[in-house]
Formats: sequence, C-alpha cells, structure tokens
Amino acid sequence: MRLGVPAETAAGETRVALVPEVVKRLVAKGLDVRVAPGAGARALIPDAAFAEAGAELSDDVWGCDVVLKVAPPAEEEIGRLGADSVLLGFLNPLGAPGTVGALASAGVTAFAVEAIPRISRAQSMDALSSQSNVAGLKSVILAAEVLPRFFPMLMTAAGTIPPAKVLVLGAGVAGLQALATAKRLGAKTTGYDVRPEVAEQVRSLGAQFLDLGISAAGEGGYARELTEEERAAQQQALTDAIKGFDVVITTALVPGRPAPRLVTAEAVAGMAPGSVIIDLAGETGGNCELTVPGETVVREDVTIVSPLNLPASMPQHASMLYARNLLAFLDLVVGEDGRLNLNFEDEIVAGACVARGGEVVHPAVKTALE
Ligand code: NAD
Repeated sequence: MRLGVPAETAAGETRVALVPEVVKRLVAKGLDVRVAPGAGARALIPDAAFAEAGAELSDDVWGCDVVLKVAPPAEEEIGRLGADSVLLGFLNPLGAPGTVGALASAGVTAFAVEAIPRISRAQSMDALSSQSNVAGLKSVILAAEVLPRFFPMLMTAAGTIPPAKVLVLGAGVAGLQALATAKRLGAKTTGYDVRPEVAEQVRSLGAQFLDLGISAAGEGGYARELTEEERAAQQQALTDAIKGFDVVITTALVPGRPAPRLVTAEAVAGMAPGSVIIDLAGETGGNCELTVPGETVVREDVTIVSPLNLPASMPQHASMLYARNLLAFLDLVVGEDGRLNLNFEDEIVAGACVARGGEVVHPAVKTALE
C-alpha cells in the first residue's frame, strides 16, 4: 500500500504530515511512502532526510492509496485524489462542511483528525491536543514578548517588581498548557472555564480557579454554548475580573459554533495601559469583541493579538507530534499484511470517518450541511 504526502499549499501552513522518524517506522511496516519534493522545506526537513528514511521523492502523491495532509485540501487538490482513495488530515468538518461534501462526491473515504473520539484509547492519535499544546505554549511566549512589563517577580537592588498577573479563559488543552507555561515564566496565574471538572486541573498547575458559578458541560467532554442570560452574566462578571490582569489569554471554543464572546470592549477599556490580550479563537471569530482575526491591534492602550494557526509557527515539533498522531491512527487501520483494514465497528474508525461510499457519513457534518 502506498502513502502519499503532498506539500501543504494553504497560506501560512508550514507543517508537513510526516517526518522522517515516522516514515522510517511506516517503511519498516512494509508500506511505500511517497513524499512530494519540498514538502518538508518549511518545517526545515530536507528532501534528503525523507529519502534516507526510505521515502520515494515524487510529485505524484495524489494518486496514492492513502493521502496524508495537514490542512484541508483545496478544491483543485480534491480533484486530484483518486476515487476510492483515502484521505487523512485536518478537514475542519464542522467549520467548512462543504469540503467534506466535495470529498464524498469525489468518492474519497475521508477521515478528519478533529473527529477522532477523545477517548483514552485514541489519546496517541489526538492531533487536536498535540497542536493545541503548541498553541498554548506559544501564546504565552507571544504575550511575554508584547507585554511592556516583566512576567516574574524580580527582587533587585532597585526594588521589587511584582509578577505579572495572567488570566487564561478556557482551560482545555491549549489553556492548561498556557497556564503551565506562564507559571514557569514566573507569572501569577488564574484559569477560568465553564466545565466545572477543570477547576482541579487548573489548581494542579499552581493557578487559581476563577469561579463565576456558570456550569456548561456539554457532550463528549466539550462545553455547550451558553444561553443568552448566561452569556450576559458571564461577560459582566468577566469584565469586573479582567481589570486586575496584565495578560489575558483566551482559548474558549465550542465545536461547530462561533467562538464565545468573553471579553467585551468595556472589559478591554478597564485594563491597565500596556496590558495584553492573546486571542487564540480568532479562526472562529475571536473571544474578544475587539479582536481582528490574524492581526495585532491596539485599543485603549491594550494590545490585542490574534494569531492564526500558531502551531505553524513551530513547524518542526508541531509536525513531529502530528506525524506521530497519524502513525497511531495508521497502526489501527493497517493490517499485519500492510493493507488497509477499515473496521467500521471500531468507534475510533467510525467516529473519525466523515465521508465514505459517496456519502457524508458523520452525523454532525450532515446536520451542518443541511
Ligand atoms: P476546546 O478547544 O474545544 O475548547 C477550549 C476550552 O474552552 C474548553 O475547556 C471549553 O470548556 C472552554 N469553553 C467553551 N466555552 C466557554 C465559555 N463560554 N467560557 C469559558 N470557557 C469556555 O477544548 P479542548 O482543549 O479540545 O478539550 C475538550 C475536551 O476534551 C476536554 O474535556 C479535554 O479534557 C478533553 N480531552 C480528552 C482527551 C482524551 O481523553 N483523550 C484528550 C484531550 C482532551
């Protein structure tokens, strides 16, 4: 069976779906791996490293049995996939369900890494987590770069500087990593989420938990969207709380929905001059009312940074972790004989599959397409 790795073409995408370490393991399993020349260039992986690991360098990757991608394929790329081929990658199935529809029409069997169930057995395949870890860490580095003040407490001959106060809104994978990183840089940290079970995880990272009394646990371990009244109460309570923080990092998401608005213009106006907001939810509209997705803006002397695709700013390790996630999924679906063995009775295989047999098969994507 042949696996193909194209060069990513989406704007700003620097990652690559496989790295040499993982190619070596796939080749050892008896699989043929074909990598497009230059596919690893922006992740600083030379073609020679792929060749040394046993990959064949060839532009003819789209006709392979299984195509491995990072970003969702462009329309033109979908046209190059063979009918009966298999595609595995980020497909943004709820944000851009039309891509899944086009893949189904092309006869492709498509697996979206976002749809892999968040269960213990699938932890090693969890690309949302591996990439959110990168984003969470990098968000704090960005904040420290922009903040015109220190992160750690400094006791110097010229007197003492208090530590920066960092608030992280949304304590999922990215948020917890941001809390851990900010703590390591010496900040005084506070975390907030609407899933009550997160409080313990926040505290275990040496942070305080901001309890606003709103509980909104949803399905599959995710948060649900708040009601109008809950949203208003949350915004008001956060506006009061945010005043005291030097840095606010926002990571709150609800799958398939616009990012919840947590930080109002009034809250921004209440922050001290020089304070910083890093909004990681820009791709779905932003958690801050004043966020301009993909840009850095200054409002009321507060800098609001909305980086898109932060994992692409650390392509070497982001690609390595992602490739290991794909390897774990391939381990599940490739049989001893080196051939594809798709067992749709398996909840991971069935859950991740978004298109098959000419149809969109994922219930939430079907609903999104209606
Ligand atoms: P996510 O990226 O979808 O959302 C980030 C955070 O935003 C979540 O913690 C969510 O509760 C929070 N949020 C949503 N709306 C909010 C609001 N209005 N106000 C404040 N916070 C809000 O989440 P994620 O990081 O992908 O994690 C989702 C879940 O998956 C978590 O329960 C996580 O523990 C779980 N998970 C499980 C596994 C596993 O068992 N294999 C692995 C990773 C993550």
